[in-house]
Amino acid sequence: MLSCKEATELILKAEEHKISVWQKIKLWRHQKICVLCKRFGYQSRSINVLVSKGLAPELDLLTEIEKKEIVSYVSTSGLARE
Ligand SMILES: [Zn+2]
Repeated sequence: MLSCKEATELILKAEEHKISVWQKIKLWRHQKICVLCKRFGYQSRSINVLVSKGLAPELDLLTEIEKKEIVSYVSTSGLARE
């Protein structure tokens, strides 16, 4: 079973189409039982749609490093289950 930290990392990689079919299955199984990661995935996809349509240009200013810092903060702060 994936931890929430691993799941959030896979969610971000999935957006860049950098995960395997097996990783997709593991992520899908985790999101079936973890409402927090399911919500994170939904919100992450929603933000990407807004940015891709130019509806939230300020959000596009986050660098990959900043996004990883946010994920790291969330996964170590107790906001997400391990
Ligand atoms: Zn989770």
